[in-house]
Amino acid sequence: MISHAPKNYICPFCAFVKNTEAEGVLQVQQDIIYQDHFITAFISPKWWEKNPGNVIIIPNEHFENIYDLPNELGYKIHDAAKEVAIALKTVYKCDGVSTRQHNEPQEIKMFFIIIFMYFLDIQMIIYTRIMIKKDLFHRKRDCLLQKS
Ligand SMILES: [Zn+2]
Repeated sequence: MISHAPKNYICPFCAFVKNTEAEGVLQVQQDIIYQDHFITAFISPKWWEKNPGNVIIIPNEHFENIYDLPNELGYKIHDAAKEVAIALKTVYKCDGVSTRQHNEPQEIKMFFIIIFMYFLDIQMIIYTRIMIKKDLFHRKRDCLLQKS
C-alpha cells in the first residue's frame, strides 16, 4: 500500500528474528523476552536516558507498516503488548506504561510497537531516544531481564 523502503531493503529486525547478521542489527538473541510462531518481543537497544528500558514487539514476518499488517497479527501483538505492560508495571512499579508505534517516516522500515514505562518524577523527552553505550546497555539489559 504505502512503502518507504528502498529497493532490496535488508530489514534489520527480520535479520534479528532469523538470527542472521546484517547491517543495523543492534540486538542480540538474549534480548528476546518472548517469541512464538508469529511475534517476537525483545528489549530495545535504544533507551531513553533515566528510563530503565523499553520493549519492542515485531511480527516475525516482514510488514512495513500498520497499513499492511494483517489484523490477526495486530491482535497478537496487542495481546503481547498488554502482557509486557503488566509485567513492567508489576516489576518496576512505574507510574504508567505507554505504547508507541510509527508508520512513516521511521528509521527501520518495518512495523513495530514500543512499550515503555514512565515515572512522574522523571521528565522524559519522548522524541529523543538515545543509543546508550554498549557496555551500559548490556548492564541495563541484564537488569531488565533479571526482573522480568
Ligand atoms: Zn522486517
